[in-house]
Amino acid sequence: MIVHKYNIKKNDLVMVVNGKEKGKSGRVLKVIPEKEKVLLEKINMIKRHSRPHGQQRRGGILEKEAPLHISNVMLICEKCNKPVRIGRRLVEGSKKARFCRKCGEIFDK
Ligand SMILES: [Zn+2]
Repeated sequence: MIVHKYNIKKNDLVMVVNGKEKGKSGRVLKVIPEKEKVLLEKINMIKRHSRPHGQQRRGGILEKEAPLHISNVMLICEKCNKPVRIGRRLVEGSKKARFCRKCGEIFDK
């Protein structure tokens, strides 16, 4: 079983590195580990038709985010200002933190 194969967490700033949204960056709204997908804010928007419900809501077209495969996104190092490879190391004795392999910046403070 693979644990922590991906180093992406909610609220991370990531860049899409593959697919039609390549080059876009945004915040992670949600990680769906069982599907190996992530939902990014304002990226990979899809249009959905909604049906009217009752009298208050109108039917129409809703835009919402569709999840992307987690392997298509990379964490952005704010110091390097670009997507970077992430390592893990122990900080303060016991906690494992992610760090930028390029500049050494720790992400989980
Ligand atoms: Zn860095």
